Amino acid sequence: MHHLTEGIRRFHNDVFPARAELFRHLATTHRPSTLFISCSDARVVPELITQQDPGELFVIRTAGNLVPAYASGVDGVAASIEYAVAVLGVSDIIVCGHSACGAMTALAEHHDLTALPSIADWLRHADASRARTEPAAENDVSALVRENVLAQLANLATHPSVARALARETVRLHGWIFDIATGAIDDATPAMERPAALTVV
Ligand SMILES: [Zn+2]
Repeated sequence: MHHLTEGIRRFHNDVFPARAELFRHLATTHRPSTLFISCSDARVVPELITQQDPGELFVIRTAGNLVPAYASGVDGVAASIEYAVAVLGVSDIIVCGHSACGAMTALAEHHDLTALPSIADWLRHADASRARTEPAAENDVSALVRENVLAQLANLATHPSVARALARETVRLHGWIFDIATGAIDDATPAMERPAALTVV
């Protein structure tokens, strides 16, 4: 824990003073333009890889960047999506997968998850991702990572707040894949939905 308390001290003493004005503004303002959905993986840091300031990304992180399709019942992911879209009015939603994803590796390589029942249950939200992957690429982690991003974009569109915003053309969906080794982001958004202004090189 010491490295965390030391980090808090350094943030407060060395970093915060230079950004005090921004944080004073943010104390009463919360208007992020983007909902960023990524894996919980510690190597994927949304604000770092997109170079965004505090207050700019509304972030949801789940194992495997999975977004359960809309269903009745208590669901923290659904509530966060609804808040971002219907209350905050974000204009863009990004689902960001990444290389070497543990969740996608477990699925692609058929790991035995009987001792990890919560993970096994959660990964069922990637059933469509597996179904979309070509049989020849069944064990290919990077192919599954890509199909999973696209499948989660489809799941996202089943949420009423997102469906409404899409119908009104007030929100755009994007699928990205972050490569840990190179720091590059590959835009996997289906071409028809890809706005030129947000194309990542
Ligand atoms: Zn991951």
